[in-house]
Amino acid sequence: MVVLQGVNKHYGSLHVLRDIDLTVDEREVVVLIGPSGSGKSTLCRTINRLETIESGSITLDGQPLPEEGKALARLRAEVGMVFQSFNLFAHKTVLDNVTLAPIKVRKRGKAEAEKRARELLDRVGLADQANKFPAQLSGGQQQRVAIARSLAMDPKLMLFDEPTSALDPEMINEVLEVMRSLAAEGMTMIVVTHEMGFARSAANRVVFMADGQIVESRPPAEFFDSPQSARARDFLSKIL
Ligand code: ADP
Ligand code: MG
Repeated sequence: MVVLQGVNKHYGSLHVLRDIDLTVDEREVVVLIGPSGSGKSTLCRTINRLETIESGSITLDGQPLPEEGKALARLRAEVGMVFQSFNLFAHKTVLDNVTLAPIKVRKRGKAEAEKRARELLDRVGLADQANKFPAQLSGGQQQRVAIARSLAMDPKLMLFDEPTSALDPEMINEVLEVMRSLAAEGMTMIVVTHEMGFARSAANRVVFMADGQIVESRPPAEFFDSPQSARARDFLSKIL
């Protein structure tokens, strides 16, 4: 579904993505791990074209990523992204947060968008919170709203960039559970996370990055039980 070939990117003199080759199949769950500053967020952001690349190619369903205009807006709808900070609209209710983009971008009718939004809120365990404002919810609840909001656009791919890193520990699991269920339902996902339990249990593949390069790309059991590279062993020794 997603193919990156020979992708390179610099920030000034910093070579942040170095010859990245990565293929993500439909229904695959890829967990991206690696030290801070290794380029994980930048890599995610190139896939919905929040960042441009200097060389190489990225295709989604065989098509090169669109550069601009309506096609780019469609790409952003098809590739959902959930960040560490939830970025909900503070002055809108939970329901309105979830219906806004489908009405504006997907041109859905209000009633249809609300029906779908309520289904999605139910799916993330927040059916009874539809009329609240984000500030009235916990961090874990807000992140689940953010996931529902992305799903409302019917994405074919979901990118998660450290979705639980800003959460208090007791809220991490409720968000991971929603992600696990999405994975089980066959959503194609790329997940940047430090939650190694999630990586082990939910990922089809772990991609380990360091210094802008993909160093290892293997099934989680193999990666965690016998990391091949010194850098991966060093990284795992610090976090496990
Ligand atoms: P990670 O998500 O793995 O921590 P990032 O992709 O955020 O890594 O960043 C990779 C490197 O690029 C880091 O050294 C970071 O400081 C740098 N970087 C990220 N975004 C920018 C930017 N917009 N301008 C300049 N440097 C950046
Ligand atoms: Mg990051």
